[in-house]
Amino acid sequence: MTTITLVQGDITEQRVDAIVNAANSSLLGGGGVDGAIHRRGGPAILNACRDLRASHYGAGLPTGEAVATTAGDLPAEWVIHTVGPVWQGPGSDPTLLASCYRESLRVADEVGARSVAFPAISTGVYRWPVEEAARVAVEAVRAAETGVEEVRFVLFDERMFWVFTAELS
Ligand code: ADP
Repeated sequence: MTTITLVQGDITEQRVDAIVNAANSSLLGGGGVDGAIHRRGGPAILNACRDLRASHYGAGLPTGEAVATTAGDLPAEWVIHTVGPVWQGPGSDPTLLASCYRESLRVADEVGARSVAFPAISTGVYRWPVEEAARVAVEAVRAAETGVEEVRFVLFDERMFWVFTAELS
C-alpha cells in the first residue's frame, strides 16, 4: 500500500530514499529542478550521468523512461532521472507523462527505495498545464504496482501545492 503525501518545498532537501529529477534527455543538466539537484548534489551525479551516456544511453534517455544514479551530497540515496514530455498544445498525449511516474517507481523498486519524492514533472520549462499534470501524476501513482511505501509530491510553489491538494481530495 502506497501512501501519497504532499509538501510545499525544495526536493533537494527531502530525506527520502530517492528523489526524482525532471531531467532532459541529455542527462547532462539543465535548469529548474534539474539544475537545483546538480547544484546541491555535487559532481558525483553528473559523473554518473556521463557514465550512462557513455554506456547504456548513448543517444540520451528517451522521454517517459527513468534511470537511477547516486544522489551525491544530497540527503537522499538515489536520484531517479526521468524525462517528461513537452506540452504540444491542447490534445497532447499524457501517456508519456504517466510513464515517467510509473517507470520511476519501477526503478525505485529495482534499487530498493521505499520512499520516493517527485517534483511536478513537465510543469516548468516543458509547460504542461498544472491541473492536468497533477491529475496524470496522481492517477499514475495510484495505479502503479510498487513496493514503495511513501510517494511524496514536493511542490515548489504554493499554487502547485494547492492544485495537488485539490487533486488528492
Ligand atoms: P520540466 O522541464 O519537466 O518542465 P522544470 O524543472 O522546468 O521541469 O519544472 C518542473 C517543476 O519543478 C516546476 O513545477 C518547478 O516549479 C519545479 N521546481 C523547480 N525547482 C524545484 C525544486 N528545487 N524542488 C521542487 N520542485 C522544483
